[in-house]
Amino acid sequence: MPQLQQNRRPAAQPVPAHRKITVLGATGSVGTNTLDLLASDKESFSICALTGGGNAALLAAQAQQFRPDFVALADADGYETLKDALAGTGIACGAGENAVMEAAAMAADVTVAAISGFAGLKPALAAIEQGNILALANKESLVCAGAYMTVAAQKAGCDILPVDSEHNAIFQVLDSKTPESVKRLILTASGGPFLRKSRAEITDVTPAEAVAHPNWSMGAKISVDSATMMNKALEVIEAHYLFNVPQEKIDVLMHPQSIVHSMVEYIDGSILAQLGASDMRTPIAYALAWPERMTTTGESLDLTKPQNLEFLPPDVARFPALALVREVLQAGGAMPTVFNSANEVAVAAFLDGAIGFTAIESLVSAAVENAAGRIPSPENLDDIFAVDQEIRAFTRERIAQMPKTRL
Ligand code: NAD
Ligand code: MG
Repeated sequence: MPQLQQNRRPAAQPVPAHRKITVLGATGSVGTNTLDLLASDKESFSICALTGGGNAALLAAQAQQFRPDFVALADADGYETLKDALAGTGIACGAGENAVMEAAAMAADVTVAAISGFAGLKPALAAIEQGNILALANKESLVCAGAYMTVAAQKAGCDILPVDSEHNAIFQVLDSKTPESVKRLILTASGGPFLRKSRAEITDVTPAEAVAHPNWSMGAKISVDSATMMNKALEVIEAHYLFNVPQEKIDVLMHPQSIVHSMVEYIDGSILAQLGASDMRTPIAYALAWPERMTTTGESLDLTKPQNLEFLPPDVARFPALALVREVLQAGGAMPTVFNSANEVAVAAFLDGAIGFTAIESLVSAAVENAAGRIPSPENLDDIFAVDQEIRAFTRERIAQMPKTRL
């Protein structure tokens, strides 16, 4: 996306000193980290709207603390609980998909897009169309609709700022006044909980083992994605769209300590990196305060302690998602959507105990193989939704044909 290549330019629209923030996915891992930061500086920030998926009690408690103009719960069945909990507070609330869309379309200075998965796409687009700055955690939306979202953002004069720690790191060190001086982007990858296990050792891992990330505390879906390295594969696509850089110039480097969050190498041999503790509040703070910075309360990285920073080439035979994503980006068109949608269904099935861990990779690979050369390039948003639906159905059917696991 060309506008992000101008890293040190002013915001597309003036950013006021006091900012109204909407948090989509407020009850999740990124959402609660965002609210934690916002609670520390009520002078600079107030809340426009909060949305949650199914946890009405937590969303109501957040609303009571932050007094937003509107709160929306995606699960329509939770409406009575939410309404009762907010009775007498004067805070307006709604439930169901339309209520989430209503919250997303409200004018705010910054919208934090922290819904997990493809479900976050329409709300993120509503925020873009409103012209709100989009602080994007929801990488799946950009993976599935990258070209569409970046064009919509340009039209609306909306900045998309990456919250994902790797992309946020790159955003901080990318001198984009001279894009031709960038040799490559280097995304670092922790390798997740199974980095040092062989493929034979991971066939029987349980959902609880897969979500136990060594460095980061995150939602279940992204934790499984980190264990398969699908997360890093999705992040290669995310970087391609965010920074408008071809995939050949986006490398992945294993870095088990998660201290160097990513790097940019320039043609003169300089490598610029962003370092910090494994704390999502740092990249979230950068996106909330951009182009300024704000104070965070987390522990800072103590460089006087031995850090033993390791960097290793990724083993693509061990993590096939890293090889598959190259084919997906080379094919372009609908393939990033295919890749993501199959993964979402497979991860949900794994978390439900319906399939084994390595079946996630085989299901994604089967969907990509089946779709290659067959599904035409989407021309509009409806086409993207149709691809998503088709791939979900295809993957569910494949799962139904699989022998039941003993999980
Ligand atoms: P999470 O599962 O903890 O939270 C997801 C949020 O979305 C919750 O509020 C949930 O209720 C809501 N939600 C889920 N389904 C919904 C639906 N259908 N409609 C509306 N709301 C729905 O996930 P997370 O770890 O916070 O991740 C959120 C996004 O940020 C993901 O796209 C993830 O890849 C990305 N991300 C997360 C981290 C992290 O540290 N957790 C880091 C980088 C990027
Ligand atoms: Mg990341």
